[in-house]
Amino acid sequence: MKADIKDYTLSELEKCFIGHSLPKFLARQVFDWVYKKRVEDFLKMSNISNDNRLFLKDNFYFSWLECIKREVSRDKTEKFLFKLRDNTHIETVLIPEPLRRTLCVSSQVGCKFSCKFCASGQFGFKRNLGVSEIINQYLFIADALFPETITNIVFMGVGEPLDNFTNVIKAIGILTEPAGPQVSSRRITISTCGLAPEIIELGKLSLGIKLSVSLHASTDAKRSNLMPVNKTYPLSELMKAVRYFAKHERYPVTFEYVLIRGFNTSKEDALQLSRLLSGLRYKINLIPYNLSSLDFNSPDNEEISLFTGELQKRGVFFTLRKPRGQDITAACGQLRASWSRTR
Ligand code: SAH
Repeated sequence: MKADIKDYTLSELEKCFIGHSLPKFLARQVFDWVYKKRVEDFLKMSNISNDNRLFLKDNFYFSWLECIKREVSRDKTEKFLFKLRDNTHIETVLIPEPLRRTLCVSSQVGCKFSCKFCASGQFGFKRNLGVSEIINQYLFIADALFPETITNIVFMGVGEPLDNFTNVIKAIGILTEPAGPQVSSRRITISTCGLAPEIIELGKLSLGIKLSVSLHASTDAKRSNLMPVNKTYPLSELMKAVRYFAKHERYPVTFEYVLIRGFNTSKEDALQLSRLLSGLRYKINLIPYNLSSLDFNSPDNEEISLFTGELQKRGVFFTLRKPRGQDITAACGQLRASWSRTR
């Protein structure tokens, strides 16, 4: 059976070629053709010997994603709906800004973690994405954008990236490979609902990437209510893992905090949040809740400014985020777990 060439990191490909008594440097040549020159036909790889081209053709193939819908929001955010080989669907979002273009990739079909406010987990979990399915989201949109480039990649689409640890780490290995797409590691962010053991594993790898933690509440009672994962990894354990990660990486950890009307915006919430973050280098993004079919609301401006006022008093630095792509349901938490079932 042929193997999907885009499932391989450079070192895996080198090992594979050496195992077949082929030169190690062939792997770099292939990476250059596939990821830099963007040629997806082994027979056209003109600096590779005929025998080796035939070997590649006989043993490997190029997978691809079928884009079945592309929507552009009023603010120019674009959402791509891809159909996978097993007829499942994933969504990928491109967020253009004046100085950067951020790609928001999915890591799983569906999600296991059932955060109450998030549309992505509503239909449960189907499966992990393979390495090439992550890479192909990037390549499809990079090709469509050319000659402009994707500057940043965030694992903030559907799924929990740390629950698909091995494939996500391999995909990051490919994306950051200098002989390949060469995306700078500091421009890659993994967002997690708080899988403490995997946050520690990620810290040990010291990949130079950024970590974002979906926090959303500052007490165990409230967080467990919103995010069942908090019952497995309560705040004390999560923050211990985050502090471990912060020691092993250069960049401050980011926290995402969705503002939900009447739920997590009180004076007490601000106080608990400042306690939780004390002594840590961090950034916190406050995101007014993006409406979905779920039973939550966004606070009004007065509620938001009362909360941010309380944070300021306690020296908590924050950024208030503007939602993007709401009109095409491309904003945080609006991507769907199972597109076909919600049609
Ligand atoms: N599973 C990972 C990656 C998903 S990122 C994680 O939880 O971090 C998607 C982000 O959007 C998360 O921070 C999530 O909590 C947030 N989100 C979900 N629903 C939202 C909504 N309706 N409004 C604003 N943000 C939301």
